Amino acid sequence: MCGITAYIGKGQALPFLMQGLEKLEYRGYDSAGVTVLNNNQLTTVKCKGRLKNLEEALKGHDMTGSVGIGHTRWATHGIPSNLNSHPHNNADGTLSIVHNGIIENYRELKDILIDKGYKFQSQTDSEVVVQCLDYFYKRGGDLMDAVHKVLNCIEGSYALCIIATKEPDKIIVAKKNSPLVVGKTEEGYVAASDIPALLAYTKEVYFLGDDEMAVLTKDDVHFYNRRNEELHKDITVIPYTLESAQKGGYDTFMLKEIHEQPTAIRETMRGRIFNGRLVFDELKDVDFTKFNKVYYIGCGTAYHACLCGAQIFELENHVPVFAQYASEFRYGNPIIDDKTLCVFCSQSGETADTLAALKLAKEKGCTTISVVNVLGSSIARASDVALYTAAGPEIAVASTKAYTTQIVLLSLFATYVAQELGYPVDEDLLTQMDKIPNYVEALLKDDPIFEGYAKKLENQHDCYFIGRRLDYASVMEGALKLKEVSYVHADAYVGGELKHGAIALIEEGTVVVAVATQPDIAAKTISNIEETIARGADVILFTTDQFDTSAVKTVYRLPNVNPLLMPLLVAIPMQLLAYHTAVIKGRDVDKPRNLAKSVTVE
Ligand code: GLU
Repeated sequence: MCGITAYIGKGQALPFLMQGLEKLEYRGYDSAGVTVLNNNQLTTVKCKGRLKNLEEALKGHDMTGSVGIGHTRWATHGIPSNLNSHPHNNADGTLSIVHNGIIENYRELKDILIDKGYKFQSQTDSEVVVQCLDYFYKRGGDLMDAVHKVLNCIEGSYALCIIATKEPDKIIVAKKNSPLVVGKTEEGYVAASDIPALLAYTKEVYFLGDDEMAVLTKDDVHFYNRRNEELHKDITVIPYTLESAQKGGYDTFMLKEIHEQPTAIRETMRGRIFNGRLVFDELKDVDFTKFNKVYYIGCGTAYHACLCGAQIFELENHVPVFAQYASEFRYGNPIIDDKTLCVFCSQSGETADTLAALKLAKEKGCTTISVVNVLGSSIARASDVALYTAAGPEIAVASTKAYTTQIVLLSLFATYVAQELGYPVDEDLLTQMDKIPNYVEALLKDDPIFEGYAKKLENQHDCYFIGRRLDYASVMEGALKLKEVSYVHADAYVGGELKHGAIALIEEGTVVVAVATQPDIAAKTISNIEETIARGADVILFTTDQFDTSAVKTVYRLPNVNPLLMPLLVAIPMQLLAYHTAVIKGRDVDKPRNLAKSVTVE
């Protein structure tokens, strides 16, 4: 998420910091800031909004200095505001830090530090890093000792850059589960959360691994592990251009975002499961015993995540649950009241129909919970409780990582409610959930297989998708993805409905994508597939190894995980099938015609 820049060298820090932040703008952000160190003094300027606001704010400040750190923030804890922007400094202005990621145990640390007399300026999780650093640094030892101690205390994900007036000749950087690279320039050393920020200055970079740190000076760089042992690292020379670097070396943002899913899923799960129990502090004031029905509401891909979330919630909590398109809900005069729970799902948190549905639910006295990806967005602010996916900014119009992270959060949410209501918690789901990122990684490696399936669609105008129950949600999303990016007409049908109409469309060579992963009904879907094969369909079947598929030629076996989690795995081949079909057909994958990323109109 978002961006970090750092500079130490013979030249001026600010130009590097600002150009780097600009190159990282594609990652999305809501505020920005910089600190420069000069004559044993730190000057920090930061503000909410775009980089041009920061440029304005910088006027009138003397930003001379050859050591500095910069940040674009994509808020996870605390609304976007001037105070919550990074860098964060200690009270006497001798330490400054920037942080990307999430400090999971920040509440605990903040309470301890408050007890010790520390005063916090911001609502962020990140500020504990600088306050904790101040605590250790003032108790003796050098900056590196203090940083080690801080890293021993914090849990979560971080890319950190740290400067101190008492040791003005260095920048300390550290990384865990959040990207950070170091570059060697003619003037000195630089660091950033991604390569595009460095390219105007150098193509020579060092990649930092998790739990590694580096000490940058103007003349050299040293790398260390958490045991403070020095590490040897080789320089990598970046072979690609700025534009492809922004896409992480992938051809499109969509492909990059598809590949970011293991990380996005891990980040969304982070801190939610502790000792086999689900943790949703945000929900502690919600009385789940009072609800006699639940609505899940969204548009497009988010609606498909709702279909999954709704089924899991109903199964685990024994209460009727309805999934509805936001536009249908708002005009459908729904019978809802203060005993209704409404869950709203939206990547941007700005989807106009979803926001209107939310307002209606509030007027009628419902309890409203939102699942959004953008902190402080309209839907997050308007709902009683906002739960955040940690997909990071999604640039491609077709949603991929936001969808899978929505399903992750909705599954954990449903299980949390079961835990609170005293129903048996599906422990298998929790154990398996932990392994999902690894399974997703493995599926991504099978990309050439999915690309091969896409070739079947090269000359097709239509494609039909079939599935039942949770697999129906998966094929709805598969069909939508294919339509959106490849413009192939695609429709999803419930397996049992085929014979009531859609089977009339099947003829010799029609491509049918079928998903059969749910043990109780997979055999039924497979019978439906046979009905289409009998009429000439070319079927691609996604299933596990549990079912007899001898009638089908093209079968892809998915890992056999808890059935409720299968939509997370099915999503990957669905996305890649759509992606490769679009590429084969020469479509503009990231910006499909007639579509917008954030649908803020009715
Ligand atoms: N969690 C931090 C915050 O909300 C850092 C977010 C980021 O990576 O920009 O301030």
